[in-house]
Amino acid sequence: MYSQDAISGHRRGRPEPTAEMLSGLACLMCGTDYRNAPDSEAVVVSHHDGGQILACHGTCARMACGSGNGLGETPLPLDERVRGHRGAERS
Ligand SMILES: [Zn+2]
Repeated sequence: MYSQDAISGHRRGRPEPTAEMLSGLACLMCGTDYRNAPDSEAVVVSHHDGGQILACHGTCARMACGSGNGLGETPLPLDERVRGHRGAERS
């Protein structure tokens, strides 16, 4: 189970969040890209630089913040998250 971690180096615990995760475009826990999975129900579990970090409703959200319903905030619409993500990449 840990062989992948041993190969990739010193990482322990959770892997580094990707830019997509930090922009709320992908689940923080399982990495589902919500742009490719518009039917998944995402909830806000954390914040990063004023943006929302999302995870799938249920198991992923519970792992991320202790509640399957996340923080109870309404996530921004997907297209707004995409726009914010592009803006962040340009800088
Ligand atoms: Zn997930």
